[in-house]
Amino acid sequence: MNNEKWMKEAIKQAKKAAQKDEVPIGCVIVKDDQIIARAYNKREMKQCSTAHAEILAIEKACKKLGSWRLEDCDLYVTLEPCPMCSGAIIQSRIRNVIFGAYDPKGGCMGSNMNINDVRGFNHYPYIEGGILQDECSRLLKEFFKAKRKKK
Ligand SMILES: [Zn+2]
Repeated sequence: MNNEKWMKEAIKQAKKAAQKDEVPIGCVIVKDDQIIARAYNKREMKQCSTAHAEILAIEKACKKLGSWRLEDCDLYVTLEPCPMCSGAIIQSRIRNVIFGAYDPKGGCMGSNMNINDVRGFNHYPYIEGGILQDECSRLLKEFFKAKRKKK
């Protein structure tokens, strides 16, 4: 299934984040069956609260396409998007959002809230969660476990 194929690419990005001591969250954006942007969480590296994988990937995709409209693009991310990224996804008109692990605290695509329940926006993405979620959440758990040991 293609969803798993692309999620595996997002997982590769998440692993890169872990190698750089960043919380392992990875993202890819796919258009016409090709990856047009890859990114991983760089919050520590950039010391920037907005340097989430999805935001960085959206920026790359817009640059690549020369457009802020990502209408025919699908976003794959290893963790359910936060409020900021959910907003950026709506703003960029992304078609489908496929995520791996659910985030009960920050997740705005079904867990804590669902942006698609908020009426009045001019765009709503199709959302599917739980793709390869065991692998996606294992990465996060192992990362935090190793962090606690270091302290
Ligand atoms: Zn985010």
